[in-house]
Amino acid sequence: MKDKGTSILNWYMENKRDLPWRNTSDPYKIWISEIMLQQTRVDTVIEYYLRFIDRFPDVQTLAEAPMEEVLNFWKGLGYYSRAKNLHKAANLIMTRHAGKFPETYEEIACLPGIGAYTAGAILSIAYNQPYPAVDGNVLRVIARLEGLEADITQEKTKKTVSRLVQDMIPEGRAGDFTQSLMELGALVCIPSGPRCEECPVRNLCTAFRNESQNVLPVRKKSGQPVPEFLFWVAVVEEKGRILLEYRKDETLLGQLWGLPMVEKGMDTTLEEQMLKKYGIWLMRGEVLGEVSHVFSHRIWQMEVIKCSPAAEGPASPALYWADPEEWMDLAIPTAFQKVLKLL
Ligand code: SF4
Repeated sequence: MKDKGTSILNWYMENKRDLPWRNTSDPYKIWISEIMLQQTRVDTVIEYYLRFIDRFPDVQTLAEAPMEEVLNFWKGLGYYSRAKNLHKAANLIMTRHAGKFPETYEEIACLPGIGAYTAGAILSIAYNQPYPAVDGNVLRVIARLEGLEADITQEKTKKTVSRLVQDMIPEGRAGDFTQSLMELGALVCIPSGPRCEECPVRNLCTAFRNESQNVLPVRKKSGQPVPEFLFWVAVVEEKGRILLEYRKDETLLGQLWGLPMVEKGMDTTLEEQMLKKYGIWLMRGEVLGEVSHVFSHRIWQMEVIKCSPAAEGPASPALYWADPEEWMDLAIPTAFQKVLKLL
């Protein structure tokens, strides 16, 4: 296995892209980059990473910053739970480790938002410890290289791949090797149409030999449909301002700004639901449109309705009248940005 690891590593040293998190071995910066890179393209991450590190250069600065500001720096990246977990983990590092980033797998993997992949990436890249870091890209590369026909969504297969990766790590080069596998998956062994003619392990690759690159990896579909939820979203305008809601922590998109929304019901009205949930009397106006937003585990179907306040009343303290100029400064996630685009 070491020959495969060495071939991939040598290719990486000659072909690697110059990315800002590759010029450091600071575990804090590696951690931030790895969390940002989950679910997000490299090109997009670069700018966010540079701005984030400029404002929050170390664990202490991040831990001491208000959560709202951290979320603001995350605005547009999506999957906001990642930013919340970064903030929580930074505070835990301050209290448990006196601000020093931990150095063992057990200590790192128990921080919020850090799983086996991220722990492996931090330990190998920042500390050069021989830990495998197996994400979707690495599963694909190894499944093809080794001709694995097992379902890569299964834990058992992930463990097999982790063992294979560990055996490939060239002596004393864990950090560069982890990055070399990621780079091979990103640039050469891509999901469809892998560029085998450019691949440094073509002569050692089972899928290339068997011409099975396009059927590997095997990923069984769960068969579970993603549930849809129907909502009314109220666009309440008064004197050029729009009513926004600061969403409760425990809700989806919690601690972010949205518009007042209630579940659509057969035997109730938007007005009744808004009164019950927010304590505001609204008068329903025209329908502005339909917006759908797909999360990883659910879909929101939102009917957007223009409303005006029907009476003064004790409204929820979570509501806030915002000028359009203020929207830029508030952490408003994409689902609600789409709604605001209807105005
Ligand atoms: Fe992937 Fe092709 Fe390289 Fe095999 S030869 S690892 S399928 S790019």
